[in-house]
Amino acid sequence: METKIQIIKFGGTSVGTGERIRRVANIIAHKVHDTGEDFPVVVVSAMAGVTDQLLRIAGLACNGEYQDCETELHALIQIHLEAAKTLLLKHEDRYNELVDDLEMAFATLKQDVTELQSSATTSNVHEVPLRTAAIAAWGERFSVFLVAAAVRNSGVEAVPVREEAIITSHPSKKTYQPAGIVIGTEPLTDETRINAQRLAHPLIESRIVPIMPGFIGRTTKGFVTTLGRNGSDYSASVIGAALDCTEVTIYTDVDGVLSADPRLVANARLLPRLSYAEAARLSWFGAKVLHPRTLIPIAHRNIPVRVRNTFRPHSRGTVVGSERTQRSAAAAITVRHQLALITVENTDMFGAPENAGQVFALAARAGAAPVAICSSSGYHLSFMVEEQAADSVLALLQHDMGTWRVICTKGLAACACIGSGFSADPMSSARAITALARERIPVVTQGASESGIILIVEDQDSERALRCLHRDLIAPVIPLVRHGTQEKRREAR
Ligand code: ADP
Ligand code: ASP
Ligand code: MG
Repeated sequence: METKIQIIKFGGTSVGTGERIRRVANIIAHKVHDTGEDFPVVVVSAMAGVTDQLLRIAGLACNGEYQDCETELHALIQIHLEAAKTLLLKHEDRYNELVDDLEMAFATLKQDVTELQSSATTSNVHEVPLRTAAIAAWGERFSVFLVAAAVRNSGVEAVPVREEAIITSHPSKKTYQPAGIVIGTEPLTDETRINAQRLAHPLIESRIVPIMPGFIGRTTKGFVTTLGRNGSDYSASVIGAALDCTEVTIYTDVDGVLSADPRLVANARLLPRLSYAEAARLSWFGAKVLHPRTLIPIAHRNIPVRVRNTFRPHSRGTVVGSERTQRSAAAAITVRHQLALITVENTDMFGAPENAGQVFALAARAGAAPVAICSSSGYHLSFMVEEQAADSVLALLQHDMGTWRVICTKGLAACACIGSGFSADPMSSARAITALARERIPVVTQGASESGIILIVEDQDSERALRCLHRDLIAPVIPLVRHGTQEKRREAR
């Protein structure tokens, strides 16, 4: 196809109300009208809070709490009808068309809930995770109708894409989270490419903007799947790669990737440029602004990712790109919570090259990827895993490693100081450790790489640690000095 396309993805807060969806529609319309912009393919999340609500509905249905389930369903429907009203009430035909689409979707959601109820109460409990995923998928589908209607109302041709663009593997038992939602189903590259192009190309050729659901996929056998919680960033880059896009823009509720989570650090700074490696590490260590898998489909093809603010569309945001073009000179601090430290010890262990591999293979069998590898010697190896996986890792290691001593410490968090700016300064690591020491925050263990340092602390200290690291390494907090106080000081001299 000749037309160059870009992916623009809007997160849950960006489509959180009818008013916000109208802003989203303006951004999309602006891109279509601007001759300097490539043609947009839009990927949307569920309205903020809706996926949580759908999972609550699924949980209530499974537990037989039918009254509460009905109440939640009613509230969910109202949120979407309210948004439809805000968007289109003055345009009767369009409003009726949108409400018809939504009503049909609500009816199918209710059927899905009934089917989940019967699976949970009969011998078909093995169907519960897949049926739960099918319910979780509805948030994105509702959003697609609302956004497409808003874009059309702004005078631009747009179509809600009713099918899932992403084709995924069939989920294995390992990919089920306790809440029942299917995680980690992997997109199948070739199948997704054929399917996404089949859905999008005819629309793009007619200059109709495809509005696609993020987060969700379908197996080759037709089961609905998801890419896991917060997976819509990832779905945007999967669809982008499948459509050979020139760029992916993630529109969210902050100005871009910042030097720390702005909800925790008031003076966090915007990072205008990041390399793929820096952005990947930041998201791995907890920067929610990008899903950790987002860069996988596109980094090797040098497709840039922008992160921009829906509510301040003129702010330039962050561009994530290849190392050569995107040296950041920046550093950022992130925190990943709910981790456990696993230490394996023996008197004659890691001299043998296969032993370390055996430890990680066992961790993998328990469904745990090492979050960080902290230290090793000939006699010990220690690494971090997610707390929820720690007991199974421990049990497997104790069972299979015979005489080895295995210790597990829970309740930890990793504070990561990351970026070429951090490692360029030889004093950075010393300053990081001193910052924590001054606040009397003990460092349980640590790991370092060419792009920064990871300090493991007690989870209860982690937010304090984040703030003091940011203050001492990135942006000092300058106390507000009241004028009167200054005068008094001068007088006292
Ligand atoms: P969306 O609904 O658009 O997907 P998310 O809530 O998933 O948005 O991600 C955006 C949020 O990520 C921000 O509101 C911010 O609180 C959080 N965040 C965490 N770390 C960072 C960071 N380093 N830079 C920017 N935002 C961050
Ligand atoms: N709606 C999904 C979730 O809340 C995906 C996303 O918003 O990224 O997990
Ligand atoms: Mg997100």
